[in-house]
Amino acid sequence: MSILKLLPVNKEMPMKKLLIVVPCYNEEEVLPSTLKTMSELLSKMISDKMVSPDSRVHFVDDGSADKTWEILTKACKKDKLFEASKLSRNFGQLGAMLSGIYDNEADLYCTIDSDLQDDPNCIIEMVAKIKNGCEIVYGVRKKRDSDVFLKRITAKLFYKTMALLGVKMIPNHSTFRMMTKRAVEELKKFPERNLFLPAMVPLVGFKSDMVYYDRSPRMAGQTKYSMRKLLA
Ligand code: UDP
Ligand code: MG
Repeated sequence: MSILKLLPVNKEMPMKKLLIVVPCYNEEEVLPSTLKTMSELLSKMISDKMVSPDSRVHFVDDGSADKTWEILTKACKKDKLFEASKLSRNFGQLGAMLSGIYDNEADLYCTIDSDLQDDPNCIIEMVAKIKNGCEIVYGVRKKRDSDVFLKRITAKLFYKTMALLGVKMIPNHSTFRMMTKRAVEELKKFPERNLFLPAMVPLVGFKSDMVYYDRSPRMAGQTKYSMRKLLA
């Protein structure tokens, strides 16, 4: 259960350590561009004193078979804003995101897909909302037209079924979100092992908000969701 402790509001809050968690599965084609964008974005946020200088982008290689890990290890040697970890096999996007969040210390956690289809500039707006007292900020896409037909149909069916079962979800939100350490600690208390984050995170409670963006098409490579993975 989430317990709200009344804490004094401090307008001059100290800067928070942000960890941007990026799951990567066979992403050699998109990574060069993603590394550049994320480094520029986080450098700017640090120099604008929006987040603390020890903030990092943490890439999780989810058992890739291509050059993903090679690219990530090289990038980490060159850029001090990057960290990476490699899972022992392919666990799926959720496993990769959770390992990035649960195994690393930070004040704020943001998850974003490695192909940057979700607008990384929204991360700035997310931090601003956290500074205004939110514990969770959801990235919400304005439309779904960049999805392939199969993805649109399965998503629609899925949301309809969940609504029939009484599950409250944020429409058009999937994996792009920011959570404070406090919200993550509450999420960890759920006993479920098969977490479905878009339905579970709202159950954490606390003050939350949304940022809206247009989702771009994948810039390179293919979707990592095969028909089998989508149906699962
Ligand atoms: N991903 C992962 N493990 C998987 C499948 C996907 O870590 O088994 C990552 C992938 O590299 C990407 C994100 O999850 O960063 C979303 O995947 P994708 O872009 O293929 O999904 P789509 O946008 O097609 O829904
Ligand atoms: Mg994608």
